[in-house]
Amino acid sequence: TNHLFGAIRAAIPDQAKPLAIHPAGGAETYGDALALSAQLANLLVARGVKPGDRVAVQVEKSWPAFALYLAAVRAGAVYLPLNTAYTLNEVEYFLSDAEPTVFVCRPEIAAEAKALAQKLGVAAVETLGADGKGSLTEAAAGLPATFEDVARGPDDLAAILYTSGTTGRAKGAMLTHDNLLSNALTLKDYWRFTAGDVLIHALPLFHTHGLFVASNVVLLAGASMIFCPKFDAKEALALMGKGATSLMGVPTFYTRLLDQPGLTKEATAGMRLFISGSAPLLAETHRAFEERTGNAILERYGMTETGMNTSNPYDGARIAGTVGFPLPDVEIRVCDPETGRVLGADEIGMIEVKGPNVFKGYWRMPEKTASEFHDGFFITGDLGKVDGAGYVHIVGRGKDLVITGGFNVYPKEVEGEIDAIPGVQESAVIGVAHPDFGEGVTAVVVRSKDASLTEDQIHAALENRLAKFKLPKRVFFVDELPRNTMGKVQKNILRETYKDTYR
Ligand code: ATP
Ligand code: MG
Repeated sequence: TNHLFGAIRAAIPDQAKPLAIHPAGGAETYGDALALSAQLANLLVARGVKPGDRVAVQVEKSWPAFALYLAAVRAGAVYLPLNTAYTLNEVEYFLSDAEPTVFVCRPEIAAEAKALAQKLGVAAVETLGADGKGSLTEAAAGLPATFEDVARGPDDLAAILYTSGTTGRAKGAMLTHDNLLSNALTLKDYWRFTAGDVLIHALPLFHTHGLFVASNVVLLAGASMIFCPKFDAKEALALMGKGATSLMGVPTFYTRLLDQPGLTKEATAGMRLFISGSAPLLAETHRAFEERTGNAILERYGMTETGMNTSNPYDGARIAGTVGFPLPDVEIRVCDPETGRVLGADEIGMIEVKGPNVFKGYWRMPEKTASEFHDGFFITGDLGKVDGAGYVHIVGRGKDLVITGGFNVYPKEVEGEIDAIPGVQESAVIGVAHPDFGEGVTAVVVRSKDASLTEDQIHAALENRLAKFKLPKRVFFVDELPRNTMGKVQKNILRETYKDTYR
């Protein structure tokens, strides 16, 4: 049997049931998914893909792109999706690192991709456009719509996903069949997904959030999804009145929904669940969303290497600013980053994770992999604490910690205080090299519309709220914070921009 696809196949409610409903009209059924993924699996095999071979894919979101993920799993291959924002130069790094057998690219870059493939020894290049057309689907159309799934065990690789590269060069995380299956089954139950659900799927397919969390949960619940090529707040809101029951999004989805005057209790009456993750959700967004819709957004925490680790509860309090409890089969502990000592409730340290969701290691980086594990726990790189009630709080990334004059400053604490000042929309706090202090706490602030806040006013507002060493030495104003496609603030860009501030 094929560990992951066997489970997906067994969960199919009825082949005639819609799996992907297109917002513009029309739908693809579970039967269609089986047929197209079989044709694509046959094509992959015809192009030389053997079990364990990588299939690299850099395409826009489309129904065939979704089926291609299933095809790769069925063929026993290792699916390797790439962010469409990557330039050809960046793609070259990923292809030379992963050595795929097949590269599926956008038709627009076919010529360059073929030249690259030849240089790197990639056996075959196929194209797939945003409209679902290209050499891939053309060639697959002539092939049988049945395929005998290649046997794969729980520990065999199903995918290599590169991390988002927020803190440095993206690393290839090796994910096994059981990493993906166990996590999706846990989430389906924890979030109560059933065949009656219709998920608004507006996330990209190259990241763990849209590819594994959203897609695998839908598949294993035998549910349906409204398959949106990208997120559009107005469209999403309209879909909420047309049978949708749930939404998975990054925090920016929710801030954009809040900008829609039509976001009301009535407009969201059919929705049972709003989930947020991939980046911190502002407590203010959580509060405003609940006020407008009556729904408390359920925030969860995960990462490419582990899938999902924690989640706010389905029943029970979903607490803003926390990422909830460890999932049923996931162990979480907080350790002192220097000594490795396990810390107690409310003590801030490095979050470590253990469970069937934790990846097999970084692709071809055994030393890096070994150094990221501590007594069998994966060192997440995120700093946080577990409070007395068991809720996990993230205070930021280890790499974002500011050490000023020997004191630790957690950016999130300072950001929270700045965000609470009237006239502030959001902020990012970074450490910038400082001749006296090592690093100087530095704030980058986005003002609310029409607000005319000054640096002095921010200083004055913070003075009685924060210890002196935590106060920003400088405050800069920008129109918006630099974010990547998953809504993550790119602090590395900010650190680069302001690096000479104290010189
Ligand atoms: P890289 O590892 O290459 O620097 P990345 O860590 O941003 O990139 P991902 O695996 O996409 O790549 O993101 C995982 C990270 O996202 C987590 O380690 C955490 O810092 C952040 N994250 C995810 N969900 C949440 C959340 N709910 N609240 C706060 N941070 C979150
Ligand atoms: Mg990371």
